[in-house]
Amino acid sequence: MGLEEKLPSGVMLTTVEQVIGLARRSSVWPATFGLACCAIEMMATGDPRHDFSRWGMERASGSPRQADLMIVAGRVSQKMAPVLRQIYDQMASPKWVIAMGVCASSGGMFNNYAIVQGVDHIVPVDVYLPGCPPRPEMLLDAILKLHDKIQNTKMGPHRKKEIEELERARLRQ
Ligand code: SF4
Repeated sequence: MGLEEKLPSGVMLTTVEQVIGLARRSSVWPATFGLACCAIEMMATGDPRHDFSRWGMERASGSPRQADLMIVAGRVSQKMAPVLRQIYDQMASPKWVIAMGVCASSGGMFNNYAIVQGVDHIVPVDVYLPGCPPRPEMLLDAILKLHDKIQNTKMGPHRKKEIEELERARLRQ
């Protein structure tokens, strides 16, 4: 007979990692990076109709030191790229990135010298969100998918290794 069957019903078994994953996914603080038209939809995601504060995100941080999620909303110009990277480096670890919209994901229709052809040339990206612009419901869906990833990421060196792999893939591009 397994341990679960011996225990009375109503007793929940879990691991420290799962509890920490739950706490992390329920308290993601975004450092919003609104760069163009996609930022309007990102702002709408925080309005009372869509309300991403339902998932513990009511606080969009003005300081990268107190943020662990970067939502890159809009095309990234070459001039903005080093600023974006600096802000990413200043964010608290473990940290996460959503590329919102085709411009942030791949440069979109701006296939020219002035625009970075995908923010993954600058920072490791966890979730790519298509659309021009993606609607708030789509951003919420991306955030929930990221929550699953956060929940299932093990503590300690695992996330660091994952970031290193993403960085290596970025440098190979
Ligand atoms: Fe603007 Fe569309 Fe690019 Fe978003 S994906 S920044 S809406 S052009």
